[in-house]
Order: sequence, then C-alpha cells, then structure tokens
Amino acid sequence: MSTLAEAVVDLTAIASNVRTIASVTGTDLMAVVKADGFGHGAVQVARAALRAGAAWLGVTSAAEALTLRAAGVTAPTLSWLHGPTEDFGKLINAGVDVGVSTTTHLHAVADAARPLGVPAMVQLKADTGLSRNGATGTDWPELVAWARKYEREGGIRVRGVWSHLVDADLPGAPQLHRQVAAFEEALRAGRSAGLDPELTHLANSAAALSAPATRFDLCRVGIALYGVDPFGAGDPGRYGLRAAMTVRTSVVNVKRVPAGTGVSYGPDHVTGAPTTLALLPLGYADGLPRAASGSASVWLAGRRCPIVGRIAMDQCVVDAGDLPVAIGAPVVVFGPAEDDQSPPTVAEWARWAGTNPHEILTGIGPRVARHHLHERARVS
Ligand SMILES: *Cc1c(COP(=O)(O)O)cnc(C)c1O
Repeated sequence: MSTLAEAVVDLTAIASNVRTIASVTGTDLMAVVKADGFGHGAVQVARAALRAGAAWLGVTSAAEALTLRAAGVTAPTLSWLHGPTEDFGKLINAGVDVGVSTTTHLHAVADAARPLGVPAMVQLKADTGLSRNGATGTDWPELVAWARKYEREGGIRVRGVWSHLVDADLPGAPQLHRQVAAFEEALRAGRSAGLDPELTHLANSAAALSAPATRFDLCRVGIALYGVDPFGAGDPGRYGLRAAMTVRTSVVNVKRVPAGTGVSYGPDHVTGAPTTLALLPLGYADGLPRAASGSASVWLAGRRCPIVGRIAMDQCVVDAGDLPVAIGAPVVVFGPAEDDQSPPTVAEWARWAGTNPHEILTGIGPRVARHHLHERARVS
C-alpha cells in the first residue's frame, strides 16, 4: 500500500450482487451510483453493474450524471434532484432522463428542450408519503396535465413515473401498502391525463428483495448493490450478497505502555494494564466516525482489537494487548470475512456510530485511495 489507507472495491462482488438481486426481482435493475457510488467509485461501479446486466443507472445530481457521460458511460441514466435553474440543456444533450417533481421544474425542462429540437426524457415523481421530492396527490393532476401538454407539443416525452418508499427496511410496515396504493393511483391519474409511461418504479433495495408488490418495471438498488444487508441486520449473506468494500491500513507507530497511561485527547481512556498501543493513520476526516470512539474495533494480528480513546481527525489508537504487532502490520477497518479473518462489517461500524451503513460508506474520505479489483481479480 503506497498510501496510508485504501478502500479496496471488489467489482466482482458488485457484479455478483446485481445478478443475485435480479434473480430475486425478475425485473430490470437501476444501479444507484449516487454519491460516487456510495463511496465505491461511480464510474467503476456503473461499468461493473452494467456488464452484469443492470439496465439503468440512477444518480442524484446533474453533475453526477455528466461525470458518467464524460467517462464514456452511455447507458440509460436518471438524475433526480435539481434546482429550478439547472442547465437542463446539458442533461438533454447528454441523453440523461430528468426526474421532475414540480411544474416549476417541468417548465424549465421544456424551455431547455425547445431550442434543442429533441424531446427531453422526463420521469415524473410522485410523493406517496415520504414528503421529500415528488408531487403530492394534490399537485399531481396539474403536473401530469402540463406534462401531457408538453408531450403533445413534442418538447418532452414522459418515459417514466416513479416514487420512493418511506420504510421498506421494516418488512410488513403498513406504510408500504399505503404507498403502493398511492403510487397506483398516481399511475391511473397519469394515464387518464393521456400519459403512457413505459417505466414505472418504486422499490429500493429492501423493497426489491422483500416486497413483490413494489417491483413494477424496475427496482432501484443502492445499498444491496454494495453488498450490505438493507434491513440493517448485518447479514448480507442471507440474500447471497457480498460486501464490496474493504477499508485497510497499516500500523504507523507501536509503543509498549504501562497501566495508567492516558490515550488520545481527554483522555477518555486510561490503560488498565501494561499493553501495546498501535497507531492507525485514519480518523474522522477519513470516515471513522468520532461517535464510534469507545465501541469500535479493527482487525489486527488475527484478532479484533478495540480502538481506545477518542478517534481524532487523522488518527486513532488501537489496544493490541500482548499481541506481537510491529510498525507496518496490516489492519482491516471493515470488510467482508475471508477464510482466516473476520473483520468488522460496515453494519457494525454503523451500529457503533449510531448511524446507518450508507453513512459509513459515503463518509469514507478522499484521503483513502480507492483501489478497484476488476472482475476475476482477487484481493491480494
Ligand atoms: C438512494 C436512493 C435509492 C437507493 O436506495 P437503497 O435503499 O440504498 O437501495 C433508490 N431510490 C432513490 C430515489 C434514492 O434516493
């Protein structure tokens, strides 16, 4: 490792997860590669997912969509969060579908398409209960009426209608059925306004795997694509999913200290016995949440060893006890279990920090070099 720490991304795991999820859903999949592919590298993940059969790519912003296009990724792509003054012309020219939730945005998209002479591909978003983006049932009739008007004029084509779920990770939650019903109602209203969307989609990872009624034409998969259990149970293996990211580093300083030694700021931690402290060049700026101080551990010298004292911006200290640890010893912060090692999982880090695995993955900072293992390659 030439850098202090790296995130190794196993693209074979990504490809395997695409095939596994598709075999469950029986639908097309949209690989959600927003936030730089949940920190895994959007372009590399997109290519691996497409090769494995994903039909669509999903991103949040125009900048993310255009990054994919600039890298030569031409697959169908939906971008879904924009300001009203976004340069929609760029997205239209790049052949990116635009998620539209308000008439304000719809007018702007239609205005941008007019001089280009090509229709903008639009996917209208209904708010079925999440109260974020999407048009509520009250605003939906006006949105679909305007969309149909622009469609007749040739300025846009409504390719899709879609929505997003509130709590699909809690199977059996009554909200799910209410949202499916509200979504079907939005589809009906769109059709009676004259729209004929070829693509309807509602499910995220958790719904794709557990709720057939949410699958429609396409499932938008994020967290499961990266091999993380979308139900928070920390057991991706029960769905045949494989964790794609391993964050690893190596020890940069080792010291033997007596009992009563304070460790890191505060100190919050004082050693209870003579022990060996190993310094890791990773801190909260690299995505190890400060809130996990006092709970987290890493894989070092064939064991799980606790991080002791406060996680600092750039560094943290591991109590290696009496294990033989030298400068340069390899450390796995989190990653999939291998034959001879069971490092912490992303889900465990999330629990230690009181957050979700998504936040851990997207929080891995820019100092952690991404290293992609291409298909058929193996972790060395
Ligand atoms: C992030 C996101 C997804 C992916 O959700 P997961 O639970 O990670 O599968 C799907 N749809 C939308 C609109 C999203 O923002």
